[in-house]
Amino acid sequence: MTDVSSGTPGRRPLRAAVIDLDAVARNVETLAARVAPAKIVAVVKANAYGHGAVPVARAALAGGAALLGVADLDEAYELRAGGIHGPVVAWLHDPFADFRRAIGLRIELGVSSLAQLERVAAATLTSEAARVHLKIDTGLNRNGVPETEWAAVVARAAELERLEQITVAGVFSHLANTSREADASQLAAFERALAVASDAGLRPGIRHIASSEAALRDPHARYDAVRVGIGMYGLTPFGDGTTSADLGLTPAMTLVTRVAGTHRAQAGAGVSYGHLWRAEHPTTLALVPLGYADGIPRHATGGGAEVLLGGKRRPIVGRIAMDQFVVDVGDDDIREGDEVVVFGAPATGAPTADELAEASGTIGYEIVTRIGPRVARVHVGGPKATPWPDAEGYGDVDEEEE
Ligand SMILES: *Cc1c(COP(=O)(O)O)cnc(C)c1O
Repeated sequence: MTDVSSGTPGRRPLRAAVIDLDAVARNVETLAARVAPAKIVAVVKANAYGHGAVPVARAALAGGAALLGVADLDEAYELRAGGIHGPVVAWLHDPFADFRRAIGLRIELGVSSLAQLERVAAATLTSEAARVHLKIDTGLNRNGVPETEWAAVVARAAELERLEQITVAGVFSHLANTSREADASQLAAFERALAVASDAGLRPGIRHIASSEAALRDPHARYDAVRVGIGMYGLTPFGDGTTSADLGLTPAMTLVTRVAGTHRAQAGAGVSYGHLWRAEHPTTLALVPLGYADGIPRHATGGGAEVLLGGKRRPIVGRIAMDQFVVDVGDDDIREGDEVVVFGAPATGAPTADELAEASGTIGYEIVTRIGPRVARVHVGGPKATPWPDAEGYGDVDEEEE
C-alpha cells in the first residue's frame, strides 16, 4: 500500500502525483490473465499517460507485458536512454524521422503507407534489417494503409523480406470503439487484410487490433496481442459507467497535496472568480493549491467534483482557478497542512480520476495525461522498490535515474 500520509511534513512535495508501480504491474497481470493467450503490448506513450515512461515500462514488463508501445520515436528513444532494451514499437512518425537511428536501436516501426515503407527500406541500406508492423486502416480513418492500397504494400513488404531488409513483425489496426457493429465491420476488414498478407507470403509475428476497451469486451478482437494503455493505469476504457473497480483494476496515480489555508465564510459569501458559488450558511473553506495549470480542469467547476479530506469526501466549490480551488468543509476541524487527495484508488475512499473526468465532461485519459509540471511525480513500489520519500528528501522525485 502507498502510505501517502507518511513522511516529514514540509519535506514532501506540496503537490505530488504518487505512482504506485505495484498497481501497474498487478493491472498488467490482471489484464494478461483476462486476454490470455493473447500477449500484452503495454502502451507507455505520452510519458506513460503522465505516470512516467521508464518506471512504468519496467513495472509493465515485470507484470508480464511482451512488448512496449509508444506513439513516436522520441518516446522510444527515452525508453532506450532509460535502460530499457526489450521490444518497443512506435507507430506515429515525424515525416522527417530518421529511421536509421530507430533501426539501430532495434525499435520496431509501425508503417502506415507505401511511402513510409520505402523510407524504412532506404534506411536499411545502411543498417540492419528493420522490424515493421504493417498498419491497415480498417475504418478509423486516421492512419494506416487504405484497403485499396493494401495489396501493393504487402507485395512490396514481402519483396523486402526476401531481400532481408525488413521482417514483418506484425500486422495491426486500431478500432473506433463506436459500437459492436462498427467494431465487427472493422474486424472483418482486418480479416480480409490478413488473408491478403498471407496470400502474399507474409507470416506476421503478431496480429493486433484491440486497445483496452475491445481487449476487455471482445474475445474475437484479441488475436495474438492487445495494446493496453488506460487499463494498465487502472482507469476504465468504458463510457458506460463500468468502473475500473468493476474490472478488477486499481488506479495507479494518486494526486495529493496539502490544505494551503482555511477560512471561515459567512452566509451569502461568494467564493472564487465570478462568485459562482455562495455559502448558504457559515462554513469553513479549505484552500487547495492545485488549479488548471496543474491539470485540474477548469471545466470541473460546478460539476460535482469532490476530494478526500479529513477522512471524508467533500465538494469543490466555486471557480477552479489556475493555481487553486476551494473545498467546503462545513464545521469540521480541517486545518492548514491537512492532506488532500484529489483522486486515487477508490479502496482508499478517494474519488477516482474517472470521477473527476466525469465531473469535467472528459475522460480519465485526459485527466492523468495533463497533470502539469508543478506536480512532482513520485514513484513507489515496483521492480526496484522505492519507499515514499521521507526525511532523506524527495528521492526519485522528477528524475527517473536508473
Ligand atoms: C493509445 C493507443 C492504444 C491504447 O489505448 P487504450 O484505450 O489506452 O488502451 C492502443 N493502440 C493505439 C494505436 C494507440 O494509439
